[in-house]
Amino acid sequence: MHEMAIVQSIIDILEQQARIHEARKVISVKLEFGALTAVLPSAVNFAFEILSKGGFTEGAQLEITIIPIKVFCPDCEKELVLEEYQPFCPVCSSPALKIVEGRDEMRIASMEIE
Ligand SMILES: [Zn+2]
Repeated sequence: MHEMAIVQSIIDILEQQARIHEARKVISVKLEFGALTAVLPSAVNFAFEILSKGGFTEGAQLEITIIPIKVFCPDCEKELVLEEYQPFCPVCSSPALKIVEGRDEMRIASMEIE
């Protein structure tokens, strides 16, 4: 479960931010992951629950968004959202697809502190 390592690094960042802003605790956090990270929201929640214990982030509400895979095909000049990754353009079968979004992004979109 690679979510453990990911969540640990997210908590590190959140705690650092909480300290900078002299917050007592983190209330809620919005996270965004690219679809190709294959991160499972349920596993993130689970890892967060365990790893946040005793820290600034304990009890924080997580809102997890998975960014869909968006590709651009330079051959037919279409931008498409794929349900599942495929290396060929679904429109013209070109192999020159470029992933525009939903790759390996991991973002803390926002956090609410107290
Ligand atoms: Zn195409």
